Amino acid sequence: MDLRFLAAAVFVLLALIALVVWRRRADRLRMVDMRELEERLKLALWATGQYYWDYDVVAGKVRRLQVKDPGDGNAGRLEAHTLDIRNVAHSEDQPLMTERIQHYLEGNDDRYRSEHRMLDADGKLIWVRASGRAVKRDAAGKVTRMAGTTLDITREREIDDEHRVAAQVLRSMSEAVTVLNRDFEFVSVNPAFTRITGYEETEVIGRSAALLDSSRHDTAFYHHIRALVTRHGHYAGELWQRRKDGEEFLCAYEFNVVLDANGAQQYFVAVLNDITQQKRAEEELRYLANYDTLTGLPNRTLLSERLWRAIMHAQHAQVRIAVLFLDFDRFKDINDSLGHAIGDRILCAAAQRLQATVGEHHTVARLGGDEFTAVLENINSQEDADDVAQAVLKAFEAPLTIDKHLEVSISPSIGISLYPDHGLVPADLLKHADTAMYQAKAAGRRTSMRYDDTMEVATRRRAILSGALRKVLDRNELHLVYQPRLTLASTPSAAARISGAEALLRWSSREHGQIDPTEFILLAEESGLIRDIGEWVLREACQTLRDWRRQGLDDFRMAVNVSGLQLLRGDFPDIVSDILIETGVPASALELELTESVLMASAEQTAARLQAFRELGVSLAIDDFGTGYSSLAYLKRLPITTVKIDKEFIDDLARNPDDAAITGTIIAMAHSLGLNVVAEGVETDTQMQFLQQRHCHEIQGFWLSPPREAQDCLDFIRRWAPAQPDAALVLS
Ligand code: C2E
Ligand code: MG
Ligand code: MG
Repeated sequence: MDLRFLAAAVFVLLALIALVVWRRRADRLRMVDMRELEERLKLALWATGQYYWDYDVVAGKVRRLQVKDPGDGNAGRLEAHTLDIRNVAHSEDQPLMTERIQHYLEGNDDRYRSEHRMLDADGKLIWVRASGRAVKRDAAGKVTRMAGTTLDITREREIDDEHRVAAQVLRSMSEAVTVLNRDFEFVSVNPAFTRITGYEETEVIGRSAALLDSSRHDTAFYHHIRALVTRHGHYAGELWQRRKDGEEFLCAYEFNVVLDANGAQQYFVAVLNDITQQKRAEEELRYLANYDTLTGLPNRTLLSERLWRAIMHAQHAQVRIAVLFLDFDRFKDINDSLGHAIGDRILCAAAQRLQATVGEHHTVARLGGDEFTAVLENINSQEDADDVAQAVLKAFEAPLTIDKHLEVSISPSIGISLYPDHGLVPADLLKHADTAMYQAKAAGRRTSMRYDDTMEVATRRRAILSGALRKVLDRNELHLVYQPRLTLASTPSAAARISGAEALLRWSSREHGQIDPTEFILLAEESGLIRDIGEWVLREACQTLRDWRRQGLDDFRMAVNVSGLQLLRGDFPDIVSDILIETGVPASALELELTESVLMASAEQTAARLQAFRELGVSLAIDDFGTGYSSLAYLKRLPITTVKIDKEFIDDLARNPDDAAITGTIIAMAHSLGLNVVAEGVETDTQMQFLQQRHCHEIQGFWLSPPREAQDCLDFIRRWAPAQPDAALVLS
């Protein structure tokens, strides 16, 4: 028994040993399998850049397996970390990740997916894409465990971001950007392309870039450009393109090639920029720098450039150049009375007439204001220049028509200088022509003068007199003289009588002696001093008139000359009215004499200004009539009461039939218009005879009396009347 038992025990023991050995081997085998599995898992995670995770939903813990990167290109160790589920993602992304898990756990999705940032095994912040699913549920079916992987997508995100930024940049670029294939067919375009060309992306994709070719270049040109792009892979320049609506635009472009992975040309990227406006602005600037914007004529800069060129040529060809300097007479009055807008249009019309007169091939420039210059090349003699100046003066005898209905007459004063006679450089030629122009003005305007050296003396005198004129009122250097006016008898039985006088200004300067009014009044007008001086004249004349009237000249009248500048002052009617009240002179005894140039600009506007005086009861005379361009018909539209025929016509009455005819006509028309007519500068009996026959109303001139000092004039008037009751003045 014992042996059997022992044998059985040994067998059992052996069996047990065998079992243990077997199990150990099996365990060992399993361990090898596990290690290999683990190794494979590690390699898989390493190779794909993924983490494995395992989430214990109940405990809220995540176990993460990750491969440490040893940095030698091999897979490192597999490491396990346990994290609280609340600390898995970057704090900013954690709420989103939790929400994604919740979303899955609630059964809304077949898989949990999330993209978020987290710290990697090395503590670096990376972007990951996690996905996983439930691997265990409790009896109620609730998920207790989840597992899955996490993929490092940092690089992918970076590339995505780059693309997004690049796309945004393209979208927001103001330049048109288009990608073309090797056949120059559109592959893509940005919004600026649509904005600039008018073509939507869908309209151009697949079509040739030749779609934008404009008619300004021929087809060969565009082929050439494309050939260059293909050859060099890069090309930049400017070319004209055409928009969808047909409008052509100038564009700056740059082509760059995009190579494929094998280095072959795949695409061309073209960046186009519409530079039409920019080019226009550049041209405009160039234009502004050289041309006068109002008239389109060259300005001072271009003038001196052209003048230099002309001088070079003249030097070489041994010919003369003439520089004509023009300034329109009393243009300031025109501007002030008609307004600057019309003034500008007058200047444009004047510019055209001037250019047409001197000829298109000569340079006419505007120096500013109403100053123009003409450069006449290939002039043979000084007289040639005078002839052109005369032609210009003649051309301005006809009025300029503005806006089809407004007729305005302006006259230039012209100064001439010649190369090489008066200067060798533009600055000197211009300066001397300017000096000559001033002399032309001083000589009575509407004339031309050639420069000569003595003019410098005159110019200096002008400057000195201008300075002295400033002190004239303070120093009491002004006084008035009076020239009587004779009213002719209208019937054989009536008697002629001195019914009025004209006040004429005199300046006796302490330093410079007696100065002619035609000289200093021009200076006073230029400096604006004429306003104060004119007011002084008016007051002084009215005071004399008051004294005379008190001394028996009851219905005596006084004529006072008024400058255009005074008239343009808005408060001038008030000044006149104040002086009348101050001196007690009735308005009807005062006559204001205005020159034609003040009146001629525009009947309507001048009429409105003059009306204020008529309302006061003051008479208005037009002085020096016939020297300007106004017609009597034109005067009819103005509230004028008297016309004074200029001395120029009276002078030659006996010798020049034209003057006789003009004077006769003026008198006749004045009669028919109901205007009082006065002949000025009457010196001879013959003239008197003629004027009487034509029924001229009044005469003024040396025949009767020169201008006299106040007391002398009063004495003369008193003496004259009784001494010569009829004085051969009765009409025969
Ligand atoms: P005006 O108004 O036409 O004056 C007439 C001018 O002719 C005066 O010259 C006068 O002395 C001159 N005169 C008159 N009768 C004869 C004559 O028979 N023969 C000749 N050879 N001359 C005669 P005056 O005094 O030298 O004045 C010249 C101009 O100066 C005036 O021409 C007038 O336009 C201007 N003037 C004179 N005083 C004033 C004034 O107080 N204010 C303004 N704004 N201008 C004035
Ligand atoms: Mg006068
Ligand atoms: Mg006069």
